[in-house]
Amino acid sequence: MHTACHECDLLVDIPDLPEGSKAVCPRCDYVITSKHRNSQDRVLAYAITALIFLILSFIFPFLTFSAQGQDRTVTLVQSITVLANENFISLSIIIFSAIIVIPALYLLSAIYIYISFKIKKLLPYTVTQLKLIGHLQHWSMAEIFLIGILVSFVKIASLADVTLGLSFWSYVLFIIFMTATILHIDQHQAWRWLIALNPEKQSKQHIPSDYKSCDVCMSLAEAGAEHCLVCGSKLHHRIENSLQKTWALLITSVILYIPANLLPIMHTVFLGEETANTLLGGVLVLWKHGSYPIAIIIFIASVLVPVIKIVILSWLCYSIQSRSQKSFKQKTRLYRFTELIGRWSMVDVFVVAILVALIKLGNIMSIYPGWGAVAFAGMVVTSVLAAMSFDPRLIWDNANQESDHE
Ligand SMILES: [Zn+2]
Ligand SMILES: [Zn+2]
Repeated sequence: MHTACHECDLLVDIPDLPEGSKAVCPRCDYVITSKHRNSQDRVLAYAITALIFLILSFIFPFLTFSAQGQDRTVTLVQSITVLANENFISLSIIIFSAIIVIPALYLLSAIYIYISFKIKKLLPYTVTQLKLIGHLQHWSMAEIFLIGILVSFVKIASLADVTLGLSFWSYVLFIIFMTATILHIDQHQAWRWLIALNPEKQSKQHIPSDYKSCDVCMSLAEAGAEHCLVCGSKLHHRIENSLQKTWALLITSVILYIPANLLPIMHTVFLGEETANTLLGGVLVLWKHGSYPIAIIIFIASVLVPVIKIVILSWLCYSIQSRSQKSFKQKTRLYRFTELIGRWSMVDVFVVAILVALIKLGNIMSIYPGWGAVAFAGMVVTSVLAAMSFDPRLIWDNANQESDHE
């Protein structure tokens, strides 16, 4: 079975792999496919369990905050909708999608697709669902939300007691099973199972002499073809205008980084007195109070990660445009690194959401969101989009040109 590597476009012949092994691209080390043991049963079991725990986490109290003889209990949904009630609807929508809607859609689609595989019958819309989960996995941030909750505890530990409700533990279990589901879904393998269920599409599988590779299902198509025969996606030799899109999104991200750091991410009212808190200010307060690990985590996730990501992606774009002939493998690794770290910048946005939802004791102690948090969330979203619009195969096109001349 021939496949073009998703990240360097090298044509690789993948044999029928035994369970428990994986196929790695010989040129760029990209893991093309990994065959897990009993992956169909496992994905179904993990996804259904994750979905049950997600539903349970709506029912019970999520967190309880007690200070000065007053209690406040919030549910999971309230921990996000409080933002919407305070005119931060955009922020509320981003968080709601990232920690509930997208993971739920992902799980439902995964269950549907794998039932189709299990009963060996192609159910309607399986192709659409499989395309969908390929996109959704970039946007699920449930595990980052959990870190955000833990950071919030440290921030308020000196002011109040926080009790974890049943829903909190249910949400933790949901994250564990959700992660297991994501790790066991192998896109390459899933598309091959889908093709096997549809013999009509299978018969068209062959190796064209001059090919385009489908970004979505990794099938090969004739160079002249417009749409993929297997999944119907529009075919591109490379992502169209990849560098221009990446540059535009990077610049937007840099612009948003400025208000994200200058504007307050939240306002604190303590005994009638209001203070504005910026992101760096928050890090300094944590440091002064001796919460060094948390101060370092927030500093790395919120201040360093965005800068590192923007610098690496800009450098990659620049090196492609200047036709660099060096260190292709290292550049591909750097690209993978930016994809991995980018989403973690959302931690502080989640911290703001949790604090705003929990700390509502009128003039004694209350926290309100600030526009810095919105700019920050916008920056994370644009930087994730920038990494997605970057086509790593462009790095290797320079290498291919070199070998053409030899
Ligand atoms: Zn490769
Ligand atoms: Zn396709």
